[in-house]
Amino acid sequence: MRHVAIVGSGPAGYYTAEALQKADDIAIDVIDRLPVPYGLIRTGVAPDHQSIKAVSRRYEGVALTDNVRFVGHVAVGDDIGIEELTGLYDAVVLATGAPNDRPLAIPGADLPGVIGSAAFVGWYNGHPDFARLAPPLDAAGVAVIGNGNVALDVARILAKTPAEFGGSDIVAHARDALAGGNVRHIHILGRRGPHQIAMTPKELGELGHLERASPRVDPGDLPDEGDDAMLEPGMRKSVTHLRNFASNLVAKPVTIDFDFFAMPVAIEGREENGGRVQRVIVEKTALDADLRSHGTGEHYAIEAGLVISCIGYQTPPIPGVPYEHGRGRFANDDGRILPGLYCVGWARRGPTGTIGTNKPDGARIAELILEDVPRGTGKTGRSGLDRLLDSRGVTPVTFRDWRRIEAAEVQAAIEGAPREKFVSIEAMIEAIGR
Ligand code: NAP
Repeated sequence: MRHVAIVGSGPAGYYTAEALQKADDIAIDVIDRLPVPYGLIRTGVAPDHQSIKAVSRRYEGVALTDNVRFVGHVAVGDDIGIEELTGLYDAVVLATGAPNDRPLAIPGADLPGVIGSAAFVGWYNGHPDFARLAPPLDAAGVAVIGNGNVALDVARILAKTPAEFGGSDIVAHARDALAGGNVRHIHILGRRGPHQIAMTPKELGELGHLERASPRVDPGDLPDEGDDAMLEPGMRKSVTHLRNFASNLVAKPVTIDFDFFAMPVAIEGREENGGRVQRVIVEKTALDADLRSHGTGEHYAIEAGLVISCIGYQTPPIPGVPYEHGRGRFANDDGRILPGLYCVGWARRGPTGTIGTNKPDGARIAELILEDVPRGTGKTGRSGLDRLLDSRGVTPVTFRDWRRIEAAEVQAAIEGAPREKFVSIEAMIEAIGR
């Protein structure tokens, strides 16, 4: 028997389990610190993108097979150490994603009202770590920093009406707070130009169909139309959306301005308001021959009572595991970290690509493990884990338990919604009757 532990039950974890489970004589434990599975699918993918979230059914199929087990509510690094895991299993795969925000290193980034996208996205998706965030939605102006798909998700969620959340699984606290909010002017800040965005066409196109909000692009920021021919087809479609936003101005109560060539250089607060953020100071940029942005010395201010930084993510380091600080991921050679220790997904390659990118990534790690790990090493795998956890008074949440949590969430759903999520670990555990 070969024993494999996968740490993290998101897309990278389950695609790895899916690829590994085809081997004979293998037992796979998928360990997660939350009592609920699916990682980014549950707490990262936008609640109004249910078709993307539907991939969790595929992971459920993997989880329900005999050689795969879900071990929920077990925190690696806390309930059990990495070295203990590598002692118990033939291979340990870190599929821990990249849940931390890349820091916004400008003065004022720590003011009240400046939030990273991990926290904001976690808040509207009901991640227990961020349920109490309470973003200041009384602000009329919001600055969203970054030109990737997360910035688009954040702007769209801020702009939607309650009716537009129909059919989504946005959690009650976010639904209510957004409905009672006052957001009127959203600025999406990109330090480079329309040809350098990291936004995909479907996601960008959605901004053009919002009930009460309209996207605006300054035609002066757009390159010559002929230059679009150099772009790959997806990017060309995205830029066509930006051109349409520039030429079809529709007056709606909420505006979403694309500020291109706009580099935030400082964030200022209002003293009489507890230092809460009031404006973002932006420096206009120009691009050099390598398409890098440089400040021009020209500045302007954007009034904003809420700033959400969507500039990418990092994998948190784990003591004893080699780490590449510059890139915010584990140091690895094609997924191999140390003998018996691997990484996959965002923890391996950084926060890029779509959910589907994790499928070949998982398949590759499975291939390496099957190549590296001989059969019959005598490690104890899951029975050893169970003994150790039991000795520490840790009772894992099983997949069967999760399905009880899920059933309770489905039962609690408001009309038209797929579920109403529990947003605290205590409520999840209570739902399984402990
Ligand atoms: P991303 O695609 O890497 O975009 C990050 C953005 O932040 C870039 O525009 C980058 O600009 C900008 N940025 C970085 N550092 C900055 C700084 N110091 N100041 C100002 N701007 C800065 O990251 P993401 O939006 O977090 O998305 C992560 C991954 O998840 C991506 O692969 C994305 O496609 C995927 N995702 C997909 C979906 C979907 O398919 N629906 C939804 C959400 C996320 P530069 O280019 O100038 O560095």
